[in-house]
Amino acid sequence: MKQIKSAFYDEFRCLAGACPDSCCQEWDVQVDAVSARRYLSLPGSLGDSLRQKLKQYEDGQYFLEITDRRCPMWRTDGLCEIQSQLGEEGLCTVCHEFPRLRHDYGDFVELGLELSCPEVARLILTAPPRPAAVREVPGGEEPEYDREAMGILLRSRAKALDILEKYPLPQALTLLLLFGYRAQEELDGGEAAPCDPESELALARQVAQFTGKEPLEEFYQELEILTLRWENLLHNPAPRQDWPEELRRLAMYGVERYWLQAVSDYDLVCRVKMIVASCLLVRRLGGNPVETAQLYSKEIENSAENVEAILDAAYTHPALTDRHLLGLITSLK
Ligand code: SF4
Repeated sequence: MKQIKSAFYDEFRCLAGACPDSCCQEWDVQVDAVSARRYLSLPGSLGDSLRQKLKQYEDGQYFLEITDRRCPMWRTDGLCEIQSQLGEEGLCTVCHEFPRLRHDYGDFVELGLELSCPEVARLILTAPPRPAAVREVPGGEEPEYDREAMGILLRSRAKALDILEKYPLPQALTLLLLFGYRAQEELDGGEAAPCDPESELALARQVAQFTGKEPLEEFYQELEILTLRWENLLHNPAPRQDWPEELRRLAMYGVERYWLQAVSDYDLVCRVKMIVASCLLVRRLGGNPVETAQLYSKEIENSAENVEAILDAAYTHPALTDRHLLGLITSLK
């Protein structure tokens, strides 16, 4: 099967005790059954500690419950007690894999990294973009996806990335949003319409509407919030006046991560809107764009409920209408 490995995948190294945020806080750690069985049978003080701290949800899923916003196995020196005693192989699947992402489509697999890790955010958002590494690896199976739809999505994703690389950022985001509709049309069985950037941008200027109402951050305030830092940012935004290059990388990361997922429900536009809105939100909230984007990812991308809520609201919420998103892009220029 074909393996597509995103740039920086092999370069990533956990910052461990030097991490400015850490994946060992704010979340309960979901422990897989194999690791849970091992933990419960460990001898000595580590086993005693895990038997005391490992809990079960009603459905039987094991987890380590955060205490004072921290994983109970996280030591004050910033290291993990399990890892320090059992080595990396002793970690449960979630801790072992984070922040690595794996999307297995059957006959090809994509390996990526999650932006909610500060080190990944630094790598992905600050380094010049690099192509993914493609190679053949053993394994694979007959894919279940719609081959025609996947073909359209793969081609259109490459074009979307090309748009993002080629144009100044406000225009790139505008063209990305409009191109999402063209790719959707093709996905729905229509013809691939030629794309003329000049007329697309002229159309966007006509459609754009910025009233100053329904600010984007108010929509995100309605979602599930994990940290006080995020809540404060949403209530006290400091909009930037510039378009930092990190936002281009953020959009590219979003396209790489979410575009192909439309093969599951044939809905590409809602994902494109989510990507464009993420860039606009990070810009509106201000601060260091790498830090704000990492926090965005932690709060939004790592919550299946929040992602679902955004995809559901993409066609209905006033903050996410095309007019409003285009209005935000043009008014903030
Ligand atoms: S968030 Fe990233 S760098 Fe920080 S501890 Fe977790 S994996 Fe390591």
